[in-house]
Formats: sequence, C-alpha cells, structure tokens
Amino acid sequence: MRIVLLGPPGVGKGTLADHLKKKYHLVPVATGDMLREETKKGSVLGREIKSLMEKGALVSDELVTQLVVQKVEHGLDLSKGFMFDGFPRTVAQAQDLDTLLERVKAPLDFVLSMEADVDVLLARLTGRRVCRKCGALFHVIYKPSQKEGICDVCGGELYQRGDDNAKTIQSRMQVYQQSTAPIIDYYAKQHKLKKLNANVEAADVRLAVAAMLK
Ligand code: AMP
Repeated sequence: MRIVLLGPPGVGKGTLADHLKKKYHLVPVATGDMLREETKKGSVLGREIKSLMEKGALVSDELVTQLVVQKVEHGLDLSKGFMFDGFPRTVAQAQDLDTLLERVKAPLDFVLSMEADVDVLLARLTGRRVCRKCGALFHVIYKPSQKEGICDVCGGELYQRGDDNAKTIQSRMQVYQQSTAPIIDYYAKQHKLKKLNANVEAADVRLAVAAMLK
C-alpha cells in the first residue's frame, strides 16, 4: 500500500504514521524529518533550511522533491508499502510525485486527507513535545511522558520544536491554506482522496483508518 497523509500542521499525521509503521509496516517518508536532519549538518544549505522552517515558510519545491526522489529511488524497497507524511505540500510537488511514482511503477493507492478544527490543531501544536533521540511524539496534556522531559521509549530528552510557537504556527496555518490545501482538489479529481475526521482522539482515528483499510 502506498499512501499520502495530508492535512494541516497538528492534525496528527506523525502520530498516525507511527501507528501505520508499527501495524502495517508502512515505511514513512517524512520530509519535515528529512529537512531537520539536513539542518543538523550545520552546512550553508542546512542553515537556509533552518531559517525557513523557523519562519514557518516552505522550503523550495526543487530541494524537497530532490530529497524525495533520492529516497524513493535509492532508499526504499518499492515492493513494500510506504507513506508520505508532510509531502507533497504544493500542487507542483504533487505533480512531481506522480511523475516519480509513475517512473518507478509504484503509483499511489490513495490520499488520506485528515481534517480538524483550528482550536484542536492549536492545542495539539502548542503542547507537542518530541524526543530528540528517537523522534517519539508526546503532548504535555494529551500524552504526557511518565517522567517530565524524558522520553518513555528511549530515555532521550524531550524538546519543543522551534516552529511550534504561536507566531510560527500562525504562518504555517496560512501557508497550509494557500499552498497545500489546493492539493485536496488535485487528488479528488484523480478519485484518490479519502477524508478522515481527525478532531477525535488518536485511538478513534486509528479505528476509522482500520475500517478504511479493510
Ligand atoms: P513538518 O515536520 O512536516 O511539520 O514540517 C516542518 C517544516 O519543514 C515545514 O513548516 C516546512 O518549513 C518544511 N517542510 C516539510 N515538508 C515540506 C515540503 N514538502 N515542502 C516544503 N517545505 C517542507
């Protein structure tokens, strides 16, 4: 199975991706994580990416698509399932993804469009904490770690992403509406879109997805 997880920041794409990885062995291709890895290198390119991410702006289509092409062509076993999380984020990226997947003869099965109200998204983003070491996701209220600031999975340090602050969240929401939301229509026209109510708790999202995958 090959899918795209689509939706605004805070809708729960990463949380669902974790579950789909464990339960259905889908390999995640998360461009946000790939870009954060680039920023750790401290290169000129890494610094440029970091400054865009901190502003809540999108990194160029060319660069992100290049990372995805590299991953799909050289870093994935195409006979197994995979899922895109945070990619595509523009119609141009969606077109490039179609071209790429056509070339490697592994077209998308469907696109899961996750939807939630703005107040739900804001509450999730402002309380989100991430493990620096293994990337596990927590939330100060909805999913607190057993020991404050420490990852339950690997004991790593939990941190708040630099772009999970009120000002940057606002820009990310605007960017989503302007640049990413048009993708919904793009995939609807291909009859590949499945809509999912993500206002509910993660366990209920999982149940709804399980029903869709039957
Ligand atoms: P995420 O971890 O998916 O929330 O992404 C964090 C940030 O990385 C975004 O706000 C963008 O600055 C950048 N980013 C991630 N994926 C993309 C993409 N597909 N296109 C452009 N920028 C991206």
